Amino acid sequence: MAVKEFKAESKRLLDMMINSIYTQKEIFLRELISNASDAIDKIYYKALTDDNLAFDKDSYFVKVTADKANRTLTITDTGIGMTQEDLENNLGVIAKSGSLAFKKENESKDGHDIIGQFGVGFYSAFMVADVVTVISKPLGGEGAFKWESHGAEGYTIEPFEKDTVGTEVILKIKENTEDESYDEYLEEYRLKAIIKKYSDFIRYPIKMEISSQ
Ligand code: ADP
Ligand code: MG
Repeated sequence: MAVKEFKAESKRLLDMMINSIYTQKEIFLRELISNASDAIDKIYYKALTDDNLAFDKDSYFVKVTADKANRTLTITDTGIGMTQEDLENNLGVIAKSGSLAFKKENESKDGHDIIGQFGVGFYSAFMVADVVTVISKPLGGEGAFKWESHGAEGYTIEPFEKDTVGTEVILKIKENTEDESYDEYLEEYRLKAIIKKYSDFIRYPIKMEISSQ
């Protein structure tokens, strides 16, 4: 399958994330949960003006699943999902929040916690994962697609089976190195602490599932 290249700006941000010496790698989870929550908001607001779309609060949640045997951490949401085009346009370009521009401007002043405060969005996943897979089925009957990237070299997109509307972001958690531990991002107590610290205000339930073998 053809590997598509990231746009130049994205590549720079991605490189920053992959080679990050940033100490607060844990914020990747805040970013992914906030994206999940935003996606549910979108379905919520659509339902307000669309009589055919009932918003049943109980069906909307974020789920964090750790699979230690496979070293995967999955963030699942029942939000609005992404079309193939959305996957290309939204994940192939840098965060629209302008946080990178902000970072550049302020680097000399206080380069320290810019990422922590403003977030760099989706790409922060590459601080803890060497493969990121996004499986998404958009609202509106279109088919599901799988977006996958091993980092700077680019990404692939292909049709995929998914029954329910929403998105799954699957992180293949990096192996521990001499200086850096990543195992902790598969541990329930650690994930719970990160969620409590950064995602306490999220309006939808955050479920958790851990499998140990
Ligand atoms: P930001 O959230 O600031 O827009 P991100 O890098 O976090 O930037 O995300 C980029 C875009 O990718 C989002 O704006 C959204 O359109 C899309 N996106 C990311 N995660 C999801 C998700 N779980 N469901 C639907 N869309 C998503
Ligand atoms: Mg975001």
